[in-house]
Amino acid sequence: MKAIVKLSPKIELHIEEATLKETLYSAITLTQYPKQCVCGNRDGFYWTTNKDQDNNIYINVKCPKCGARAKLGTLKGDRGHFWRNFEKYVPKDKVDTIT
Ligand SMILES: [Zn+2]
Repeated sequence: MKAIVKLSPKIELHIEEATLKETLYSAITLTQYPKQCVCGNRDGFYWTTNKDQDNNIYINVKCPKCGARAKLGTLKGDRGHFWRNFEKYVPKDKVDTIT
């Protein structure tokens, strides 16, 4: 059995895992990202991706109002995925310090 997941007008995934449950797990997990950003926004989220210097791939949903991102996390042993809550990226040199 194949699941078709439409992530955006331009991205449509056809997911077919070894079992029905695995197919549903992947399809449902991908679409169940947090529906409210830390800024309160609930609309217009869009997909982004990036790679770090170690070639790790990050899949995110980004808030158009404040730029916060919800990251798709990977379970230990690559057993599956889960969504982290929205977080704003703060570069290390911009972190407020108590002086
Ligand atoms: Zn936001």
